[in-house]
Amino acid sequence: MKIFRQDIRFDDYKDLSLSTITFKRASLPDEIQVYLQQHQGHPAIPVVHQGDHVEAGAVLAVAQGDFSAHVHSSISGKVSLATSEWIRVESDGSEDSGSFLKEVKSWRDVSREEILSGIFDAGIVGMGGEGFPAYFKIKNAEKKGSLLIINGCESEPFLTSDYFLMVSRATEIIYGAELLLKASGREKCIIAVEDNKLEAIELLLSKARALHVKNMEVKTLPARYPQGSEAELIRSLSRSKALGAGVPLIHNVATAFAVYEAVRYKKPLIERMVTVTGHCVVEPKNLWCRIGTPASHLVQNCKGFLRDPIRVIFGGPMSGLAITNLDTPIIKATRGIVALAPEFSGEGEEKPCTRCGLCLNVCPEELSPELLIRVIQKENGALAKEFRLSSCTECGNCTFICPSKIPIQKILKIGKTNLLHESFPQSFQAPVDGISQVVLG
Ligand code: SF4
Ligand code: SF4
Repeated sequence: MKIFRQDIRFDDYKDLSLSTITFKRASLPDEIQVYLQQHQGHPAIPVVHQGDHVEAGAVLAVAQGDFSAHVHSSISGKVSLATSEWIRVESDGSEDSGSFLKEVKSWRDVSREEILSGIFDAGIVGMGGEGFPAYFKIKNAEKKGSLLIINGCESEPFLTSDYFLMVSRATEIIYGAELLLKASGREKCIIAVEDNKLEAIELLLSKARALHVKNMEVKTLPARYPQGSEAELIRSLSRSKALGAGVPLIHNVATAFAVYEAVRYKKPLIERMVTVTGHCVVEPKNLWCRIGTPASHLVQNCKGFLRDPIRVIFGGPMSGLAITNLDTPIIKATRGIVALAPEFSGEGEEKPCTRCGLCLNVCPEELSPELLIRVIQKENGALAKEFRLSSCTECGNCTFICPSKIPIQKILKIGKTNLLHESFPQSFQAPVDGISQVVLG
């Protein structure tokens, strides 16, 4: 079945990071740097000062209300700098032994309120890239629908961190989904996975059966980009008539895993799976990483670069964000670090728009990207709202297809920030210039 008026097809390069499926933890970094607004909503307020000693798992900054999230230290050491934007912790060299974990023996019997407070205390945010505070998302969706969707689609090229988590921690993800079902009061859960991840599908199905989990279904969807986005996932499931009444609540598989760890072990969100990949990386792989670790440290864990990348991206090359400094630390929503080789540059001279309409054909939100560019250039906020600029999911399809090499996604992202006043951490506002390199390279 055709999803868009014109499908986007490209090589996904996922095999690069799947040569090993051993669960490997990145080595201890010398220091971490954590942002106080690494989530949507209000920044967290620091509660530590320069010179303080902190243990791994300690709260560094507290959430400013429900639409925010606590920020914790992922290592033990000394706070070397604390500002209103970020906190730096120098490691004392001790590998965290997990001593801060406290197992709740009867964790499967905890109440809805206990699960919710566990999610809030752990500072869990959407780990599929959007960074939306999970507690707020669940509370906000109360009584608005009957379906919970656990998103395991991961349609971005190069990224395999969700796949890796599904094949290495399938049981825990199912438990996390069960806890999210209870916390949200939803009646049914669908774990949605694309058909290019058959091993994950088989594992999730067999574990769900063995655990006798009720009201849970593993649904296979045909692989296509940008099915990982919430809007597109809802459309795909609605086509297969899998949606119940009301608005579905969607959480990523990595978020479900974090919820499991938070409720069972009272573990704050201080680590996550990150795909470090690209043709410039010597040994691309998935690594279990401490939040706040510099990208350079994680690249070194993969034996460094074979050659200089043309661009390094946090997230996937279609919707991710280019970083200009390799010491940029990973945040809770960082799914991958992709070092693109020069042959994927996709760079070329930008030419005037020819009104060819190709960008319109590939937009899953049925927007008119070229029209939105003109609206943004005229700084017309009213028209930007009328032509639904806020519906742009920044999937990058339009940039990918544009023969005039216009960085459409970048222009729309800046337009959303400037005209619609969307909050986003300034340090992560450097969008990727384009994606044509991935298809045409
Ligand atoms: S694809 Fe590029 S050239 Fe074609 S209409 Fe869109 S912006 Fe203009
Ligand atoms: S980036 Fe926005 S405008 Fe472009 S194709 Fe995706 S949703 Fe449409």
